[in-house]
Amino acid sequence: MDHSHDAPASLKRDAMLPYGQQWLDDADIEAVVNVLRGDFITQGPSILAFEQKVADYAGTTYAVAFTNGTAALHGACFAANIGPGDEVITTPLTFIASSNCVLYQGGTPVFVDVDPHTYNIDPDHIEQHINEKTRAIIGVDFTGQPIQADRIKQLADTHNLVFIEDAAHSLGAEYKGIKIGKWAHMTMFSFHPVKHVTSGEGGIIVTDDEHYYRKLLHFRNHGMTRDPAELQRNDGPWYYEMQSLGYNYRMTDLQAALGASQMDKLDSFIERRRAIVEQYNHELAGLEGVVLPYQAPEAHSSWHLYVIRWEPEYFSVSRRELFEQFRAMNIGVNVHYIPVYLQPYYQEKGYRQGLCPVAEHYYDTCITLPLFPKMTDEDVKDVCNIVRSVYEQNRINR
Ligand SMILES: *Cc1c(COP(=O)(O)O)cnc(C)c1O
Repeated sequence: MDHSHDAPASLKRDAMLPYGQQWLDDADIEAVVNVLRGDFITQGPSILAFEQKVADYAGTTYAVAFTNGTAALHGACFAANIGPGDEVITTPLTFIASSNCVLYQGGTPVFVDVDPHTYNIDPDHIEQHINEKTRAIIGVDFTGQPIQADRIKQLADTHNLVFIEDAAHSLGAEYKGIKIGKWAHMTMFSFHPVKHVTSGEGGIIVTDDEHYYRKLLHFRNHGMTRDPAELQRNDGPWYYEMQSLGYNYRMTDLQAALGASQMDKLDSFIERRRAIVEQYNHELAGLEGVVLPYQAPEAHSSWHLYVIRWEPEYFSVSRRELFEQFRAMNIGVNVHYIPVYLQPYYQEKGYRQGLCPVAEHYYDTCITLPLFPKMTDEDVKDVCNIVRSVYEQNRINR
């Protein structure tokens, strides 16, 4: 590779700055150690305490914790009664889990293209894909910016569909002044270490609907119940019934204790993320050919990702080379995401390139910059200096 266009080596960082990372403190460690010293490391009281904390935060009646966000989405598809022959509308610009959960249930994901500014599913394109097989809509709050939840809710109500929100990116975000968690029938948060707060691995569904709540409880525990009110017969105090096919998707108390302790820091983490974003927006403004993230006025993002796009006609090298130049400077840039249906597994199912042209153009031009609360102002400055340097090195002079 010809390195003559690389940014000056003096800007190179000593170690790779990742795009995302957890921030744990002594209180988090103590919370986990306390569980280790106690009586229950799974199926104990920490689970309910964590669920209550997340439900209170989101303003919902119920929360059900799972081993991870993907399992939680699987549970939501089960609770929504998705099965073979059913179609579920979703976005291609997401992590594969948000449509894989439909496949787990034997359903068929239907991909609807995204809005070119917010990169979220475009509500204008949803209705034309609704037919008698459609059962649900899974929206994804990409990068932390909420979907147009009111319009999607309206479509779901009109057509009698279940509205599931994949809010893995948007814990703590608001749409039209209302917290994410209140808009959809079921909303998923993930507690993977790159997300806003972490439990190591972990996921949760929040809901206001008791019917979904009960189905989710059963699903994460083998489809079993011990609740006397739900039993078909009762052989005695030991008795339980398996009434549906569930899984072991239970979170441990170690994870729940960590998650609950991290929740105490959520608002300050989000505040820090928003401050970093302001610094990026300020320092990177005015680079012609670089598109900074657009924010809809009614959306208040909690900023999981900061994505900039490089319009190819302004640069002498490919996005791949830009990406590699950042990595050579130890900036851990990333690409979020490859449109799901371009994955070989989906291609084998018959989804074709060209299905969602806006998402595909986005994928060809996007680069995710590092964004996590533990980043220092100096880290952010380093990234901005390297962005400007890469920009100057590769820009076509017009
Ligand atoms: C992280 C993520 C998930 C899956 O969550 P896990 O906890 O990693 O299983 C699902 N959807 C989106 C959009 C995500 O970013």
